[in-house]
Amino acid sequence: MAEYSHSKISTFEQCPKKYKFQYIDKETPEIETTIEAFMGDIVHRTLEKLYKDKKFQKENSKKELLDFYNKIWDKEFSEEIKVVKKEFNAKNYKKMGEKFILDYYDRFYPFDQFIILGLETENKMILPDGNKWHIRIDKLVCDKEGNYYICDYKTNSRMKLQEEADSDRQLAMYSIWVRDKFKDAKSIKLVWHMLAFNKDIISERTNEQLEKLQKEVIEIIRKIENEKEFPTNPGPLCDYCGFRHICPSFKHMVELEAKEEVKKFKEDEGVNLVEELANLQRKKFELEEEEEKLKKELILFAKQKGIDIVYGSNFKALVKDYKKIVLPEDKEEIIFLLKKKKLWDKFSTINYSRLNSSIKKGELDKEISEKISFEEDWRVSLSKRKEIEE
Ligand code: SF4
Repeated sequence: MAEYSHSKISTFEQCPKKYKFQYIDKETPEIETTIEAFMGDIVHRTLEKLYKDKKFQKENSKKELLDFYNKIWDKEFSEEIKVVKKEFNAKNYKKMGEKFILDYYDRFYPFDQFIILGLETENKMILPDGNKWHIRIDKLVCDKEGNYYICDYKTNSRMKLQEEADSDRQLAMYSIWVRDKFKDAKSIKLVWHMLAFNKDIISERTNEQLEKLQKEVIEIIRKIENEKEFPTNPGPLCDYCGFRHICPSFKHMVELEAKEEVKKFKEDEGVNLVEELANLQRKKFELEEEEEKLKKELILFAKQKGIDIVYGSNFKALVKDYKKIVLPEDKEEIIFLLKKKKLWDKFSTINYSRLNSSIKKGELDKEISEKISFEEDWRVSLSKRKEIEE
């Protein structure tokens, strides 16, 4: 049995290939971390210190906390840390982190509103399928009335919405563990401290919702364990991925970025092949447009003359009108009639792409999927690169 966590299965949902690089092949990422993750980590450690010291009756001043934050930052910061948003630099992020800590301090001083039960906890929970689930709660607290609060510090620069908190998986899974371990809990609230906005978003789940969520998690784990291909899933989060240098969808781009000189870039065989294909497709598109225009002129010519064959020197063009069939929008009735009159087999066809995707998702039963085999095929499609579009 394996160990899973919210971030592990989220990685699979984001991109199965990234999951394979990170958790199966254990590849070393090209970038150790991004500036957002670096700043978030130090803010977490600073707030952890605040509450840890408080347990020992030591109250930190704002200055002491900021000194702690800046000391770790200066010691651990390296130029290798990736700043994705080019309009900002590391200093901007450092200041953001300082502000988060000061705002939090002012809002919660003297930090005695709750009883602290755990900070950056490290626990495991056994799921009904036997796999383990990793529990790491930033701050677990309760009040005197027996209400428990699972708190997570969020350093996102976008304010999250209540709907997002109500459908979030991470803290909800932790609440299953809290429910099991703290039998006196009257309620378990899930709290996002949105540090950039100095606000909290609070959510709660019913037992039924938690049972359903647990089943969904087990289903995703089943999919991960049955996955054979681990396809890439390129999207906006690729900018933050540390495996672009080995990812089939970005490896060539990373190689090209390393060829700083324009001349070397233009000599790349892949660049030339793609340019040639793009040129050919453009010409093909222009020719098709011209063909359509010519056909329209031929139809007009044939109509005016009242003829249905137009003769050239070596070819002749047949110009015939015909009735194109148009099916009703709601096709159920026509399908019913075709089936009733035993004509369905004659006119229906198999949808290959839907069949393919159902097999890949493991949705078809064994008897059907065993009758289907696969052969290697390739598809080449062109699209514009992001930086060209912008
Ligand atoms: S770069 Fe994008 S597509 Fe490639 S592994 Fe990373 S997340 Fe997946």
